[in-house]
Amino acid sequence: MATALELYDPQVYELVRQEEVRQSGKIRLIPSENYVSKAVMMATGSCLTNKYSEGYPNRRYYEGQQVTDLIETLAIERAKGLFHADHANVQPYSGSVANLAAYTALVEPGSTIMGLKLTEGGHLTHGWNVSATSKFFKSVQYSVDPKTGRFDYTRIEEIAKKHRPSIIISGATAYPREIDFEVFGRIAREVGAYHISDIAHVSGLVVAGCHKSPVPYADIVSTTTHKTLRGPRGGLLLCKTEHAEKVDRAVFPGLQGGPHMHTITGIAVALAEANTREFLSYAKQIIANAKALAEKLAEHGFDIVSGGTDNHLILIDLRSKKIAGKKLAKALDRASIVTNYNTIPGDTAPPFNPSGLRIGTPSVTTRGMREKEMAIIAGFINRVAENIENESVIEEVSKKALLLCSEFSVPDHFIIPNKTEPQYMYSE
Ligand SMILES: *Cc1c(COP(=O)(O)O)cnc(C)c1O
Repeated sequence: MATALELYDPQVYELVRQEEVRQSGKIRLIPSENYVSKAVMMATGSCLTNKYSEGYPNRRYYEGQQVTDLIETLAIERAKGLFHADHANVQPYSGSVANLAAYTALVEPGSTIMGLKLTEGGHLTHGWNVSATSKFFKSVQYSVDPKTGRFDYTRIEEIAKKHRPSIIISGATAYPREIDFEVFGRIAREVGAYHISDIAHVSGLVVAGCHKSPVPYADIVSTTTHKTLRGPRGGLLLCKTEHAEKVDRAVFPGLQGGPHMHTITGIAVALAEANTREFLSYAKQIIANAKALAEKLAEHGFDIVSGGTDNHLILIDLRSKKIAGKKLAKALDRASIVTNYNTIPGDTAPPFNPSGLRIGTPSVTTRGMREKEMAIIAGFINRVAENIENESVIEEVSKKALLLCSEFSVPDHFIIPNKTEPQYMYSE
């Protein structure tokens, strides 16, 4: 395939190659990103992209579904097995659409939904003001306790009792602690709300048993397939049998047309990969790495929100270091360490120039890095933070980062850039 692209469109081929080099030569710490396997990549880039399959297996609106029915059924069965769910829908184009489908499956437009505020770690689609989810629904938002950086479940219960939403959403985009889905389920029942759990970030940890599963406690569980789950970009909905028909109708024909069968094919492969011993040790190592990275950063004097992490991500409060999140993220990118700036609980700075940095360990774990490398990376981050105006130090860190990357090749299919420097041991 690479040869065909090279031949027919050298311009795009060159750009893809540049991105491969970037992905292999940078320490990627964005917690929502990963590296898929070659098998997932092949499935996603397969001829299934040529097929229209509106409808569901054995109930399609187009002919020629001999193979697609089998693939989608396989993906559904694998999802149900892996998550221990009664029903699965593998068609949502992405996590955002999956969430909108979950809401519209259960309640009417104009109903009240209650989710975690974006600036406190929630997702746009949990009712943030610029999202369609706050235009089609009334949105009530909850926060995390600014003192502990954790959920105050009593406070969440009070808000739920006061506003009596129709849906309560558990789950987050930037929350470093394990979420008690059972408590969210109980609060929802108390106020007569549905409980929708969005595990986009932690679903890979959930299937490995490294994070409690919301499946027993939620009416619908929504996830992306491309974060810790390590599949192609897509969405997945799981639910109890009683909601199955409503969920399916909400996705198609409610919100979508033809499913992306090439993505569903890739999801099927990723779900099989997630059902292996290797995936289990990957998930455990993600958490071990995140804990190690948080600890080392704390030793360098970084203020870690909530004092640490239970999952794959770390939120750093940079106010004590007097550096803006965006400034550090940009300097780190020049140092070949890719992160994202982020708001922190109770942040008074705006989301486009917030006080925090969000980092995570899925990508580096997929490359085989372990606790020892986390200590090295913490040293790199600290060195950049302490020399934020010094481009020659930033360049020096970048060279070291590239060398570290060259020792941990991207599994299977990415190009490793040429080593331009001799190898040496990292002492930082
Ligand atoms: C990433 C994320 C989504 C949305 O996923 P997209 O695939 O980008 O649409 C939804 N919810 C949460 C909690 C997320 O972190």
